[in-house]
Amino acid sequence: MSRDVEQRIAGLVREDVRAMSAYHVPDPSGLVKLDAMENPFELPEELRAELGRRLAAQAINRYPDPQARELKLRLRAAFDIDSRWELLLGNGSDEIIQLLIAALASPGCEVLVPTPTFVMFRNIAQMLNVGCREVPLRADFGLDMPAMLDAIARHRPRLVFLACPNNPTGNLWPEADVRAIIAACPGLVVIDEAYTAFASREHTALLLDYPNVVVMRTLSKMGLAGVRLGYLVGDPGWIAELDKVRMPYNVGCLNQAAAGFALEHIGRLREQTGWLCGERAWLAARLAGIAGLQSWPSETNFLLLRLVGGDAPGVHAAMRARGVLVKCLHGSHPLLADCLRVTVGSRPENERMLAALADALHARP
Ligand SMILES: *Cc1c(COP(=O)(O)O)cnc(C)c1O
Repeated sequence: MSRDVEQRIAGLVREDVRAMSAYHVPDPSGLVKLDAMENPFELPEELRAELGRRLAAQAINRYPDPQARELKLRLRAAFDIDSRWELLLGNGSDEIIQLLIAALASPGCEVLVPTPTFVMFRNIAQMLNVGCREVPLRADFGLDMPAMLDAIARHRPRLVFLACPNNPTGNLWPEADVRAIIAACPGLVVIDEAYTAFASREHTALLLDYPNVVVMRTLSKMGLAGVRLGYLVGDPGWIAELDKVRMPYNVGCLNQAAAGFALEHIGRLREQTGWLCGERAWLAARLAGIAGLQSWPSETNFLLLRLVGGDAPGVHAAMRARGVLVKCLHGSHPLLADCLRVTVGSRPENERMLAALADALHARP
């Protein structure tokens, strides 16, 4: 970078943006990738060929349908969405978080999240210059209800994000707690259901009971992380307002077609998520047999682990040296000291992960 460019940047780019670091994604080449909650199963050969034909038939010289009508119909059918609710689609749920904050935020207002939780809530609030208030979870990762209700009463957040189940803790907070927060909150409560396919409960019924709740979902954790499709379910009134801040062509025609195709084969995706839930139990039992590990029950496609002997960064690096990439959470939040997060993969991937973890623990001085 030349001195000239450096000076212009210092004078023009927002100071808080200059202080940020870009979202870091480690290079997974050659590694068993268990760091990002992806579905381990690729599309079978015959479906790939069919998808190729579908994509080839798209008119890429034309703009996509800005309302993605066909895809919305497929989503409604696949997930049995009540006709009284409207849908808004995003380029991943990350974009929907951005739309929500952009539409609701005003100077001095706040977003509130219980933490540790999905880091994009805070990152996107920061990008949009909106304050993000964090209320720590209890040590058992339950919601600290007195602290949540107190923060809501005092700070009256415009938006509250509740990841149900939560990432990276993997648990699903009791419905009574979720309801109490919605009832107490003057702002909009966003229930992030990224992991609903792996969970014992979903929340669209809350839309009937409260005027200040919307439910956000994504196809990413179900097997379509590369397609980038998130959707918001809510009262048509909320969706109409949010739609005004959405870029009209935010979901490209190839993404619409690929997502629609996958939804035609939703049965196969459900088989995979069902298998992963069984595999999660197998993996949890194996992990419970490794000395020096604490793990927690999960309603997601990952497991959170604590290395009782410490040195999560060292164990993380040693696992990586043995060809397995997991997520090190140490340092990201006080409640996550010495924690790793591992995605539930295929059986061979999980076996390699277990071997790498056992080796890495063993190799520790
Ligand atoms: C992975 C994840 C998302 C992001 O989903 P995309 O649709 O891929 O942007 C949202 N919320 C939570 C809690 C997640 O873990």
